[in-house]
Amino acid sequence: MFQESFSLPLRTMPAKQTKTRFAPSPTGDLHVGNVRTALFNYLLARGCKGSFILRSEDTDHERSSEASLASICHDLEWLGLSWDAGPRIERSNIEKTDSDGPLGPYRQSERDSIYKSLFDRLSQSGRGYSCFCSPETLAATRRAQLAAGKPPRYPGTCAALSDNEIEKRIAAGESPTLRFRVPERGAIEFRDLAKGQQRFALADIGDFIIRRSNGTPSFFFSNAVDDALMDISDVLRGEDHLANTPRQMLLLDALDLNKPRYGHIALVVGEKGSPLSKREGSVGLGDLRGAGYLPLAIVNYLARLGT
Ligand code: GLU
Repeated sequence: MFQESFSLPLRTMPAKQTKTRFAPSPTGDLHVGNVRTALFNYLLARGCKGSFILRSEDTDHERSSEASLASICHDLEWLGLSWDAGPRIERSNIEKTDSDGPLGPYRQSERDSIYKSLFDRLSQSGRGYSCFCSPETLAATRRAQLAAGKPPRYPGTCAALSDNEIEKRIAAGESPTLRFRVPERGAIEFRDLAKGQQRFALADIGDFIIRRSNGTPSFFFSNAVDDALMDISDVLRGEDHLANTPRQMLLLDALDLNKPRYGHIALVVGEKGSPLSKREGSVGLGDLRGAGYLPLAIVNYLARLGT
């Protein structure tokens, strides 16, 4: 059912040491879809004698929980997918409790000062700008663009506000988001490790939010910069992230940071063909464990699925 051809760098070792990561958002338990992603990253790292790290993408403070992170760590350990560096886990019987190294911390919620210095760099270079558009205005613009048969893109309302106006609005109590300015012309091309050559026209990518109005980084931003700052060489992730990749590559270029290679793999889908998700009561690892499946059987099944 899943036909994918991989050109993973298993034979020609890349100049840089292979380093992969699993970067779950701790908002629920693992399901077989995320486990497959973790497994592929783990296998690539171990197959290349590289390293594999765990990073908690917990920038959504309301939905993320420590209990969920502990459960993810426990499940990975149970499956035998050990990581070389990752977040410290409190309240858990996992022995690896202090693995923050020089490239940590591995919880995004603890990396605010790092993100702040990068936001400042983008603002100073003019690649980041304050945007005061409310979610309601943005939704209305989006509806109008769709109704007119146009692709929904940020129309650039706040792209040229003066420093003076920005200061005045902030002083009046408005909290802006920070948007990344995307060049209007050109294209971004890359060779995806699983899907081959890709090309995205920049004209189709609107300026996007990199810092929310509450000060937290958006997924595009923290995910991309952490891959660079943590020296990740290869990112294997679900194909639902493919359209995010050009944005993330633009950001890394603007910050003069290294880009990893990306490989977008097919999602594991349910019987009706819809992707598994935590919300739709997908096959959780806990359910399988409870039903008596052995870890090796699960790993073996997921490693072969789609080959
Ligand atoms: N936190 C993201 C997710 O769970 C990570 C995506 C990625 O691997 O880059 O979907």
